[in-house]
Amino acid sequence: MALTFLAVHAHPDDEASSTGGLYRVLANEGVRTVLVTCTNGEFGDAPGGIKPDADGHDADDVARIRETELDKAVEILGISRLIRLGYRDSGMMGWPQNNDPHSFWATPISDAADRLAAILMEERPQVVVTYNEHGFYGHPDHIQAHRITMAALSLIDYEPTLYFNAVPNSVMAIMRERWEREEREQREADEANGITRPEEPPGDPIEMGTPDDEIGAAIDVSSATDAKYDALAAHHSQVGESFWMKMTREEFGNAMGTEWFVRVTNPHGLNGIVTDIFAGYR
Ligand SMILES: [Zn+2]
Repeated sequence: MALTFLAVHAHPDDEASSTGGLYRVLANEGVRTVLVTCTNGEFGDAPGGIKPDADGHDADDVARIRETELDKAVEILGISRLIRLGYRDSGMMGWPQNNDPHSFWATPISDAADRLAAILMEERPQVVVTYNEHGFYGHPDHIQAHRITMAALSLIDYEPTLYFNAVPNSVMAIMRERWEREEREQREADEANGITRPEEPPGDPIEMGTPDDEIGAAIDVSSATDAKYDALAAHHSQVGESFWMKMTREEFGNAMGTEWFVRVTNPHGLNGIVTDIFAGYR
């Protein structure tokens, strides 16, 4: 059986950060891989880390830059087909951009779901990946990607295996420790240089981690961490200063060798944690 994998992501760069290893591994196996990117990412940072509400941030410029970055990442990950739905980035929750009628958040779910359903019917992926109902971390475009995927799946004439990308709580705890340590070290370095930074406001209440016993797939992507690193690096305008890019390739490889998923639909009656995202199909 010809295998096809399809992921629905919110912004250019999400394909690399949450499924980059899986995409490359599947491409190496000869599986057809499809990426649906919902927005153009207008409200990411402009080059130089310029935030969307700062002077010098041109949303359309950012979208153009991210278009090129995404093309490069798609090539690195060996993705067979990229489909841009072309919605405008909605910005973070509560931003006025949420209300722009062209924003993804303001788009009626049924409109976008119809378009996605047509893609699913054409490609007929056996496995579909997107985010959980919290959009993994609460970004409106990620929540909307979840909603249109669920709606589209109810419109098609077969049931693929659906997974949500996830990070087990046990792993999230290690990552959080690393972030907190880096932040503390940065603050101490700043203080040593006479710079006082305000304490970060308390984090978003949405818990990003998933209880370990809810994980349904743990995919070994250790053979693809270099490609994942390169794909992330291709999104330079967004991740140039991120914690990922502060890691050496070796540290990155050690930290990023597994991608985890929660199984949502299960037409093959799988049990426990599978190590092949196409378990039940081959
Ligand atoms: Zn995103």
